[in-house]
Amino acid sequence: MSTTVKAYGTEAVDVALHEIDIQRRALQAHDVEMEILYCGICHSDLHQIKNDFGGTKWPIVPGHEIVGRVTAVGDHVKNFRVGELAAVGCIVDSCGHCEYCNDGIEQFCEEGVTFSFNSEDKVSGGHTFGGFSKTYVCNERYVLHMPEFQNLASAAPLLCAGITVYSPLKHWGAGPGKKVGILGIGGLGHLAIKIAKAMGAHVTVFTTSPSKVEDAKRLGADEAVLSSDAEQMAQYGRKLHFIIDTVSAKHDVNAYLNLLRHDGAVVLVGLPPEPLEVQAFGVIVGNRSFAGSNIGGIPETQEMLDFCFKHNIVSESEIIDIQYVNEAFERLEKGNVKYRFVIDMASLQN
Ligand code: NAP
Ligand code: ZN
Repeated sequence: MSTTVKAYGTEAVDVALHEIDIQRRALQAHDVEMEILYCGICHSDLHQIKNDFGGTKWPIVPGHEIVGRVTAVGDHVKNFRVGELAAVGCIVDSCGHCEYCNDGIEQFCEEGVTFSFNSEDKVSGGHTFGGFSKTYVCNERYVLHMPEFQNLASAAPLLCAGITVYSPLKHWGAGPGKKVGILGIGGLGHLAIKIAKAMGAHVTVFTTSPSKVEDAKRLGADEAVLSSDAEQMAQYGRKLHFIIDTVSAKHDVNAYLNLLRHDGAVVLVGLPPEPLEVQAFGVIVGNRSFAGSNIGGIPETQEMLDFCFKHNIVSESEIIDIQYVNEAFERLEKGNVKYRFVIDMASLQN
């Protein structure tokens, strides 16, 4: 029998999020059930409740930066015990046996990955409901071991923002001797600064917000540039090995391609709903690349959590009650959060 639990969701773009009831499936042999303690608010949640990409499934319950405590395990669960901390990020199911699943990049599963919310639910039918809720249930293969972070709430954003920047930083070789640019200091960008510094790279950030220039240095950046200042921008011409672009709205990527060294790359992780224009000379001159990166698989997500625990990296967060979530989304849209909202799920009474 499935269980009815409280959640926060909405039925349409113009309806504010409010309390709704959802069903969590009865525990299967390989399932883990957790009580959700904290859930981060990612700009992807905002894109989806606004139906920015056209594919939103209603009603939607957002949330994919989920930290909880295990409350029950199925008969065949080997790696989790009741009472342990655990976490769920973006991925909650996949075929488990294709080339991509075998390589631990389940986000590219040949039969189609299931995301933690707004995704076809191949087990129960309907679609998945995310972490703005009291509990989560999924197969243990997709559950992470959550290290005992001192500030557990602020560690929740690692589950999406953290892995989304860790994966391309590692792939493109962030480390000693590398000059890395970070474009946009939001939830993803501020964690990218901390992670790239912990990897040993030299970090330059580019922001549209004057108030974030000084703050970027506090976060660990070596240099911070106001992108509207043409003179400052010109100083970085052909200096950077690669740039992680976290911007959530349409912007000019050509200005950043021109900051790359030979063989450099602008790696897009932001999801502007409109297409971006790339000038031919921006990539041809210097053999540069305009690339992308999509979250990270389960093994790499665990590696990232352990890396961040070791290096004492969590997000700078504003902890809120679930009843504040609509205001939080309004503020996120205006860029008015330093740098991630995290919901304390104790505020949602079952
Ligand atoms: P966020 O906290 O809102 O940060 C985005 C930042 O982009 C803002 O803080 C701002 O930084 C900059 N920005 C916003 N609008 C801009 C504009 N019009 N022009 C230039 N800069 C602008 O969002 P987030 O949660 O970090 O997510 C960032 C993006 O990544 C979203 O589109 C999200 O959907 C996407 N995402 C992708 C993946 C993936 O797998 N690739 C995973 C998670 C999220 P400054 O104030 O510093 O300029
Ligand atoms: Zn996200």
